[in-house]
Amino acid sequence: MISKASAQPSPGADTSGDSYLPHHGNGGYRVRHYDLELDYKIGPNRLSASAAITAEATQALSRFTLDFGEFRINRVLVNGKPAKYTRRAHKLQVKPAKSLALGSEFLVEVHYVGNPRPLPGLWGDIGWDELTDGSLVASQPVGAPSWFPCNDHPADKATYRVTLTTSSPYLVAVTGNLVSRYTRASTTQWVFERPEPTPTYLMSVQIGRYDDIVLVSGGVPQRAAVPPRLRRAFARDFGRQVQIMDSLQRMFGPYPFGEYVVVVTDDDLDDPIEAQGMSIFGANHVDGRRTHERLVVHELAHQWFGNSLTVADWRHIWLNEGFATYAEWLWSEESGGQSAHAWAKTWHARMKLKPADLRLADPGVSRMFDERVYKRGGLLLHALRSELGDAVFFPLVKAWAMENRHGLVTTAGFVALAERFAGRSLTAFFDAWLDAPALPPLPA
Ligand SMILES: [Zn+2]
Repeated sequence: MISKASAQPSPGADTSGDSYLPHHGNGGYRVRHYDLELDYKIGPNRLSASAAITAEATQALSRFTLDFGEFRINRVLVNGKPAKYTRRAHKLQVKPAKSLALGSEFLVEVHYVGNPRPLPGLWGDIGWDELTDGSLVASQPVGAPSWFPCNDHPADKATYRVTLTTSSPYLVAVTGNLVSRYTRASTTQWVFERPEPTPTYLMSVQIGRYDDIVLVSGGVPQRAAVPPRLRRAFARDFGRQVQIMDSLQRMFGPYPFGEYVVVVTDDDLDDPIEAQGMSIFGANHVDGRRTHERLVVHELAHQWFGNSLTVADWRHIWLNEGFATYAEWLWSEESGGQSAHAWAKTWHARMKLKPADLRLADPGVSRMFDERVYKRGGLLLHALRSELGDAVFFPLVKAWAMENRHGLVTTAGFVALAERFAGRSLTAFFDAWLDAPALPPLPA
């Protein structure tokens, strides 16, 4: 059977071929690099920007399409020459003056201005959003076009350079390494580079009146941007993050990025969210009593599972959420809390009460972020650990993270690696846990 994800879209097509979100992402080219120059005024929420996108044509192209929100476009250039363009919904179709040959590298420049705002979708409004005093970007899965034109599909990872100029008293954190910072009177220009291949949804901008806190500078450098009023509570709640980092590195292999940054906004957020080399928490996730330490673990685990290893198609989402959930249980066990098995028993009992109508390997687009994807994913991994034993399971998990570092992953890829480590077929096991709607029994 030919999977939809591998079907070749027609030239210039405005579909990625994704099985869940085919209208996000586009065919006919691959992006190599985004160079974004952003000038942002916080009060009026005004963005004046240019995006220079270096891409490679995977087919001969007379036109191509980008995903893009509601900005006024001043001009579009391809290889330095003005190009014609049309807009429909959140698609920008570009017709270069000269067609692009198969395999050719080309540069698209889009100059735009407007008020960035989150984009509506199945998961509420996501993307660039205003805070009470600042901004944040939380894009999973399709919010990236709220602030830059892009090929908005996780399988098209690219490198980035982001230059952002805004009012000087604010701290700016962008998913990348800060390479320069220059203050000129009332504004400061910040330049960040993201050299690791990164999907659009994991790029983020955080602007606020934050203190810049160094958690540790040796090993993996870890920093935090925190509102001054929350510093004391933050110090307690994130007090074990450095140990959590060590623990996850022992289990999953080296941390995939040069630095890890935690941002706590001064506003409440529904859920914390992962970005590349960064996690964003709301003020409500910090209470000085470590109530939400499992989320500290969960978001950090996404740096391996979701961020370094990115799903090739959204239907494989359990590979992100199942691993991040299981990491919570493993840390609990290691830090002297409840054992992973006790957590598995608790969640198995709760999941048994839920409708048995979700297939983990293909939950459906409306249920990508259903709690069952998270918990049944964690339960699958715990059951696999029982099936294989610790001596096989933990090397398997580390190999999964190492062999696919900065790559794209699928459920079939994980099954194949598990069988390689087991030295036998695991068809019955994975049929039960991945494909059957009923929740399998938990091994003793
Ligand atoms: Zn998660």
